Amino acid sequence: MSAENLNFSADVARLLDIVANALYSNRDVFLRELISNSADACDRLRYEALGNDKLIKGDADLRIEIRKDSKERKIYICDNGIGMDHEDLVNNLGTIARSGTGQIMEAVKAQKESGNDKGDLNLIGQFGVGFYASFMVSESVEVVSRKAGSKDTWLWSSDGRTGYTIDKADKAHEDLLIGPRGTTIILNVKNDGSDYLINEKIKQIILTYSDHIDIPIYLGSKDELEEGEEWAPVNTASALWMRPKSEITAEQYNAFFSHLTHSYGVDEPVSTIHWRAEGTLEFTSLLFLPSMRPWDLYDPSRKAGLHLYVKRVFITDKCEELLYPWLRFVQGIVDCQDLPLNISREMLQHNLVLQKIRSAITRRVLKEIDQLARNDNTAFEAFWLQFGAVIKEGLYDAAQHRDEIFKICRFYSTHEDGKLTSLEDYVARMKDGQKSIFYIAGEKAKVLKNSPQIEGFKSRGIEVLFFEDTIDEFWVQNAMGFGDHPFVSVTKGNIDLDAVANPNKEDEELKNDKEKEEDKGADTNVITLIDRMKSILGDEIGDVRTSSRLTSSPVCLVAGDKEADLGLEKMLRIQQNYQGESKRILEINAKHPLIVRMAEIAANDSNGKLEKATHLLLDQARIIQGETVKDPTSFALNMSEFIQGGI
Ligand code: ADP
Repeated sequence: MSAENLNFSADVARLLDIVANALYSNRDVFLRELISNSADACDRLRYEALGNDKLIKGDADLRIEIRKDSKERKIYICDNGIGMDHEDLVNNLGTIARSGTGQIMEAVKAQKESGNDKGDLNLIGQFGVGFYASFMVSESVEVVSRKAGSKDTWLWSSDGRTGYTIDKADKAHEDLLIGPRGTTIILNVKNDGSDYLINEKIKQIILTYSDHIDIPIYLGSKDELEEGEEWAPVNTASALWMRPKSEITAEQYNAFFSHLTHSYGVDEPVSTIHWRAEGTLEFTSLLFLPSMRPWDLYDPSRKAGLHLYVKRVFITDKCEELLYPWLRFVQGIVDCQDLPLNISREMLQHNLVLQKIRSAITRRVLKEIDQLARNDNTAFEAFWLQFGAVIKEGLYDAAQHRDEIFKICRFYSTHEDGKLTSLEDYVARMKDGQKSIFYIAGEKAKVLKNSPQIEGFKSRGIEVLFFEDTIDEFWVQNAMGFGDHPFVSVTKGNIDLDAVANPNKEDEELKNDKEKEEDKGADTNVITLIDRMKSILGDEIGDVRTSSRLTSSPVCLVAGDKEADLGLEKMLRIQQNYQGESKRILEINAKHPLIVRMAEIAANDSNGKLEKATHLLLDQARIIQGETVKDPTSFALNMSEFIQGGI
């Protein structure tokens, strides 16, 4: 059989183009990527062998060996892991199988066109340039591989330009494998990569990037040893999470985080949580809270989860059962003593042990975040702004953790512009006798803070929280309240603000105040105005009434007690294609000069001005609400007429 010539997929070709042409500040990463692949191959073999020990027989000491031939300018990265057959080679080293890669490549291309080389590196870092990094230092690369359980050895080779060839390996190449199965990568080092042919340089890269790998990495081959020399691995080669905390440096933790997330030089964890649970359930866990949002945090096809080990044997890298979706940004590993080693991936689903570990992890992570808030508020707030919206999904999804989540929730509010507040602090500032926590939901605090519906709250010193995230509209429907304080939307129902602001006034006094207010309304024909407005607007509106919410705006819209809140309905319309439409209540500010004037003419409006003004006011209230006007043409005509009259 002669060698097959195959082309790289478009993604690979583009990636290789970037790898070859971008001026990387750090080419050392190629070795880190290849070692990481070899370690994964050993992990996978160990896992497969749990069900079929023939696969590992004959050579159970899994290891990585890095050899070199300085004269021939070759570096060999060898492992006795799972190996690849013909199909694997085509699928793994000719295409990029990972989902979302297309999108990333588009982003990389755009950044490249804008001349941003660092951007390339950051973006690629997020999904790992992987095997293709070898072309940064190599003229050409050969891969010799034999899959565990197979007799055939294959040779893949490429110069990293358009394509690659695959052929059966000859004897000389076969001999480069270090075990009965596994992979040897041969790099034909470029002229400007000579420093990688020096032992010290290789050692330094291993210690910097790969020390945490729990497979031993040897430099050179056993045969090359001098008399009395010991063949010892360069790395520590023990699982980082099993070592005592006191022996692990921050750099080592960070290197492990980068290894898990493929984010070298891009992100650092804001918190590292390393603990051993003992008692009814025994497991060790090493978790990281990242400081940067992964690019696909909201991609529904994104798989999140923790790496699961059972008694230090790798089982899977995406154990979703260990992590609630609303903690999907957490990275790390769990090593469990209480699961059988031969657990299959199917058995992981609905597994009680995993569910218990998940609860423990959730409590621990939330506690850690709470501590971060207490110890380093700046770091916490930066973290919250990245991940808060995701964590709040838990208020909806996991009622059993709601109280712990409430502790760490932060919102902007009317208390202090641009400052986040906790619910606890909100409650501490509540007016004497104020029972409810008031909020307004919508898009951004910057816009919400000018909403007419909160004017009356601001003027009476009653704090209102800004719910900026889509999820807020949902959890707030389910949450009974924070402690015994219910959440109340300021855009809904009839809120008696005077009773909230003056809790010490007797009911009787308040009633008298109200009656006085109503008398004033009667004096200025407000009642007539309201009747006229109701008949003008007819079906368009559920009701018209005076408001204690408004101080400087003439009108606003609110939802009736039993109707969907304003923001919620708008969102359902956009996101769920919801067709329903509740009748809104138009509230008017009886003290506003415009309303006073309209009330004056309400009784004897002969030229229909009141009708036009009423329609304009309703449209204005809709616009403030971010809704569209129902009839833009007559809105514009009415408006021009009024401007003309006034100019
Ligand atoms: P990644 O490792 O991030 O998936 P790579 O481009 O580095 O991406 O590798 C692609 C795939 O090739 C790996 O997922 C793995 O299946 C396979 N592979 C690479 N190196 C080896 C190896 N030494 N042994 C076995 N399989 C390997």
